Amino acid sequence: MKHVVLRAVLQAPPTAADFVVCAAPVPACPAGGVLAQVLFLSLDPYVGARLRGRHMGEPPPSPNVEPIPGAVVGRVLESDAVGIAPGDFVHSMMGAWGEVVAIGPGMARRIDPELAPLSAYLGVLGMPGLTAWAGATKLAKVGSGDVALVNAAAGAVGGSVGQIARLKGAERVIGIAGGPEKCGLVVDRYGLDACVDYKASDWPSGLDAALGGRGVSVHFENVSAAMLAAGMSRLSPYGRVVLCGLADHYQAETGSAQIPIGLIIVKRAQVHGLVVYDFYDQWDAFLREAAPWVRDGRLRIAEDVATGLDNAPAHFEKLMQGRNVGKSIVVVNAE
Ligand code: NDP
Repeated sequence: MKHVVLRAVLQAPPTAADFVVCAAPVPACPAGGVLAQVLFLSLDPYVGARLRGRHMGEPPPSPNVEPIPGAVVGRVLESDAVGIAPGDFVHSMMGAWGEVVAIGPGMARRIDPELAPLSAYLGVLGMPGLTAWAGATKLAKVGSGDVALVNAAAGAVGGSVGQIARLKGAERVIGIAGGPEKCGLVVDRYGLDACVDYKASDWPSGLDAALGGRGVSVHFENVSAAMLAAGMSRLSPYGRVVLCGLADHYQAETGSAQIPIGLIIVKRAQVHGLVVYDFYDQWDAFLREAAPWVRDGRLRIAEDVATGLDNAPAHFEKLMQGRNVGKSIVVVNAE
């Protein structure tokens, strides 16, 4: 079987040339865990930060030894886990960029292929979807009458945030995204009221026009301190802010992200930091609510797909450069 490793310790933002696809022995099934054939591999921004030792204190994988970490959906080949049998489909956050992965005890969840397409368990029904659901419903408590603003709105997290805000009764939901293709997706497929292209000139005026004189009551930040400041400066009094991600800062070499903190006072803002790990114990509750939305077409999916593990490095470079349109996924084995 094949897996993907780093060529050397990274000194700069990851590119496709930093990875090597190589032959590796099939791992053994761990005690209490499962051995799974990987069907779909998730590519996520946190992995880019992790590869440089910049994610939640988690170490980067050893070059040429350890495969790149990543969430996977797979078919069980062998199982020593209670309640999981060979042939079952599983999702795990503790997978890797490999054709076959060993998943430790308690790290694989059985998933239902009848409920949604299997790849959805990496996106709208996976960690990004859980992040969006937790941030929108548990932290910001978005609901009727809200005016919600979200950036990276075409992506896995942002796309779900916008749609969940709408499903929860927000009065107006506005996305911000980079370029006309992404903005088209946000409005035409996700059904948001408007999407502002921040790569167009004078996009702040476009944002004001989209708001139509209304204040933002929920701002969901995925990108940067500058975007956060732009959103917060348009906040209604006592508006809620979810600080979820800073994609534009993960590979930056200088300084930490900063906003004018006086905005928090002026706007009486409630600012929530979000770490999805804190909501892993609510995954079942999330699926109970979100899976019917997906089944009924109320929570729509958009994927940016590459086929074959050999293409994972180039597809990851695309994600690192923000060129993905929708959830970034690699089809490792087609069923
Ligand atoms: P996306 O599919 O949204 O991809 C990232 C997007 O960020 C890009 O497509 C791009 O969209 C935008 N972006 C802006 N600047 C940059 C840059 N310099 N480099 C790369 N991308 C950039 O990813 P996800 O939906 O998976 O994640 C969205 C955010 O949520 C990320 O910041 C991620 O780290 C965070 N996150 C946080 C979690 C938590 O627990 N707090 C859990 C999961 C994700 P555009 O062109 O529209 O700007």
